[in-house]
Amino acid sequence: MKAPDCPCGRRGARGAPQALAACCGRFLDAFDACPAPDAEALMRSRYTAFVLERAGYLLATWHSGTRPAALDFESGVRWLGLEVRAHRTLDDTHAEVEFVARRRDAGGRAHRLHESSRFVREGGRWFYVDGDLR
Ligand SMILES: [Zn+2]
Repeated sequence: MKAPDCPCGRRGARGAPQALAACCGRFLDAFDACPAPDAEALMRSRYTAFVLERAGYLLATWHSGTRPAALDFESGVRWLGLEVRAHRTLDDTHAEVEFVARRRDAGGRAHRLHESSRFVREGGRWFYVDGDLR
């Protein structure tokens, strides 16, 4: 049986979809041992965490200054895909990632989330800070 593709849609060397375990799964499953190496990888893994409803990972990768106390997932949401538009490294500890995420809510309405997200690196790890909707 083929391993499941990563929901973030990242493609490998030959254009084939990456397996979840080889892509975002290793970050989700080993947050302490295996931090995402850059802001884009962190952003992708956070999208995957939304798809898989992994609140613990989302909170752990949220910067302490902006992290919510808890996270609820809307029921019935289906995530349809992620497109990373830009990854800008501003300096060693600051980066921005612009992306479009598409989802369908429980009522069947489609939504498009277009955001520029800010990330900071602290203690060798990247964290999500906040974002501007576009
Ligand atoms: Zn992935």
